Amino acid sequence: MFPDLAEQLRAREQQGLRRFRQVVESPQASHITIDGRDYLAFSSNDYLGLANHPDLIQSACVGAKQYGVGAGASHLINGHSAAHHILEDVLAQFTGFPKALLFSTGYMANIGVVTALVGREDAIFADKLNHVSLNDAALLSRAKFIRFPHLDLTTLEQRLAASNARRKLVISDAVFSMEGDIAPIKQLIALCEKYHALLVLDDAHGFGVLGEKGRGSLFLPDSDYVHSPNIVYMATLGKAAGVFGAFVAAQVDVIETLIQSARSYIYTTATPPLLSHVLLTSLKLIEQDEWRRDALLRNIAQLKNGLQSLSWKLLPSTTPIQPLLVGESTEAVRISERLREQGILVPAIRPPTVPQGMARLRISLSAAHQLRDIRRLTQALNELALDS
Ligand SMILES: *Cc1c(COP(=O)(O)O)cnc(C)c1O
Repeated sequence: MFPDLAEQLRAREQQGLRRFRQVVESPQASHITIDGRDYLAFSSNDYLGLANHPDLIQSACVGAKQYGVGAGASHLINGHSAAHHILEDVLAQFTGFPKALLFSTGYMANIGVVTALVGREDAIFADKLNHVSLNDAALLSRAKFIRFPHLDLTTLEQRLAASNARRKLVISDAVFSMEGDIAPIKQLIALCEKYHALLVLDDAHGFGVLGEKGRGSLFLPDSDYVHSPNIVYMATLGKAAGVFGAFVAAQVDVIETLIQSARSYIYTTATPPLLSHVLLTSLKLIEQDEWRRDALLRNIAQLKNGLQSLSWKLLPSTTPIQPLLVGESTEAVRISERLREQGILVPAIRPPTVPQGMARLRISLSAAHQLRDIRRLTQALNELALDS
């Protein structure tokens, strides 16, 4: 064993940075069971409340009977099932791209896309607050890694103009996971077209939630959906879609290139086909159940309303990610712990995940939350604010 491991772990512990897992005994839902106790959870990405939906469970049983459980091989050997293939077609159609490709996870999709599209002679231009998987992908690609301040298009344009890289790849979250704000997609696309760059857009938190019929951030009214050939769209299927996995949708040549050279696609076992079968049901519900997105909007409005007079302020977000800015890490942790004692789960997000002095409670809302759930949270926060 490396003798310094124990030392490092102790140091982490002393700084209050050691992470522990909690064991969830119930299915994922607005109320979950941990250590036999019921908690009202504002901490999952199950935005539409589909993770435990009876129709999805039913589809899982049907899918298991039809396809078995394990895929048995990678997609390029003989693991590419009819279930995967059908889902890819449906996803391409749903998002309005010529072709889509399934990946096992969003993390793997980002790694695969970025490393397949750029290399040593190329440059990546990335928003500073992008998801860690995009940053890891950029480092692994060996392309020049240029980061611009959050949403700062002026700086982005300067850097694009100054670059003489062979290929230019702009990378951005569509909805930023710790802020809940939305990237200026239309302007990003315009810049990419102007500078012959591709835009990798990570819509992990927008797919299913935002845009017409939940088709994602590209279908928001103000993103003025232009069918740009410069977009490489990535979305995950384990968040709003309630299942597991991810996909990339883009022009045919981009997808074919990924099939040839995205290593996180090629060198791994395909996901159980039954999951793709379940996702077909999930997509139907995403498309049909407008009431889920309406419930989310209602919950967001109720939360904002209930926290109006609080000294801690919600960051300006119109998405289900509603961060409450507290400032000091110790204070954020204290509030999170007090809430937990009352049976309410809201994670405290601290540096280095967010900048110093910007510690926050990351409130994630779901369509499955009832108004009384939101009220319980806002009342608890208002009471905690009084004695701090
Ligand atoms: C969750 C997330 C991912 C990773 O997706 P997984 O399917 O969980 O691996 C990638 N990007 C963003 C912005 C995410 O929030």
